[in-house]
Amino acid sequence: MAKKSKKRHKRNVKKRGLQRRWRIYAIVGAALLAAVGGVLCLKNCGLDGMVKGSIVSDATATADNSYQFGDLNPTQLAAAKELGITPAETRDELKERLDNLVKIASNDDYRVDYMEHSMPYLTHGAAQLLSDIGKGFQQRLKEGGYREHRIIVTSALRTIEDQTKLSKSNANAAKQSAHCYATTFDITYTRFYRPTGDGHDITVRQLANVLGATLKELRDAGRCHVKYEVRQHCFHITSRR
Ligand SMILES: [Zn+2]
Repeated sequence: MAKKSKKRHKRNVKKRGLQRRWRIYAIVGAALLAAVGGVLCLKNCGLDGMVKGSIVSDATATADNSYQFGDLNPTQLAAAKELGITPAETRDELKERLDNLVKIASNDDYRVDYMEHSMPYLTHGAAQLLSDIGKGFQQRLKEGGYREHRIIVTSALRTIEDQTKLSKSNANAAKQSAHCYATTFDITYTRFYRPTGDGHDITVRQLANVLGATLKELRDAGRCHVKYEVRQHCFHITSRR
């Protein structure tokens, strides 16, 4: 009997040890998942503050052909050189040139993504254009009875160093870019910010077309040059004022 109970005791100790180990694995696993989820959300949700709503995205969404504007780099660059700042080689050099620029941050008109290869600064004219695009986009949604959404800015002012890094990893990024003049920014057409759940639902593709229609009106009015970027999933926009 004594032998049997000793065996049983040993078995129980082993079982408890295993249970404890699994509990530790579960806790560590949950902590890791939470950490990775948090980092992914920070990157993908494009935060520069707390997000109260949500991000809707569809990587396959495209805008209709009539909104796939083709204002090429030489056209955009000419406007940028006329209206923008002198490009800076490095971030340190750029910091001395920010005085006459507007820092853009998420507001009721648009959201600003986390920017790795650029800084959230624009000329006064470009910042005004961005606000007008954001307002026009929301006005169109409101008129259609659709749920409120905001556009997301994914890139703005770059240094020559930023641009060189980008053109190495991305064939689309020209060596000389309008982004270096603070006149130019990118708005994604595959991701939008949704602050509330009120109103009629709308797909990301429909949102891309509402954004396209908003840009068409401003482009037709001579406010901007626009290039539809297929690989970067964005409208590349240079202000003409
Ligand atoms: Zn761009």
